[in-house]
Amino acid sequence: MILTRSLPHNQSFKQYLHIFLLIALCLRHTLSTIKRRLPTIEIPATISLLVLVPSRKKPGKPFCSLASIGFSACGRERKDIINDRKQIIPELGNVELRNGHPTPGNCSEVDNLCHLDEFVSLVRAGSEECKRIVAVTSTLNLMKGNAENNCPACWKLIKLVRQKHKFLHTFVIAPGESSAGI
Ligand SMILES: [Zn+2]
Repeated sequence: MILTRSLPHNQSFKQYLHIFLLIALCLRHTLSTIKRRLPTIEIPATISLLVLVPSRKKPGKPFCSLASIGFSACGRERKDIINDRKQIIPELGNVELRNGHPTPGNCSEVDNLCHLDEFVSLVRAGSEECKRIVAVTSTLNLMKGNAENNCPACWKLIKLVRQKHKFLHTFVIAPGESSAGI
């Protein structure tokens, strides 16, 4: 939440991706050190980016884009975190648990989707003459740095929330660290 509130507004997708990859890299270095000293500490498995931008940017017209960075639930508060997410995203109640996959609501993608309704309203209101919005998500394994695919529960959840926002187009990308020029 603090991280999301600290992100700048109205950046391009490329700039948000750059910020995301740099934050993920810094966290990985810091958390590796902490993990060596406190091996039993639980660290979120994944980190995700959600960027909402209008589908077109007209020169001279108002433009609004927003981004969020989220983490998978972990530790003693895992259940409470998932319950909080279910309160914010009622569609999570329609996503079934599948064997061998995380509990619906556990993933870092869901942390970001908690901001979706607010972001959609703000981006639509702030982007004159642009009815369609593009939502791009990207997920990395926090400690290894490699891109992670959405689990079946997250795919289902994205499908459900898209039904609520008909003008929303969603994309999932899998960047490498070279995307940020690191
Ligand atoms: Zn998931």
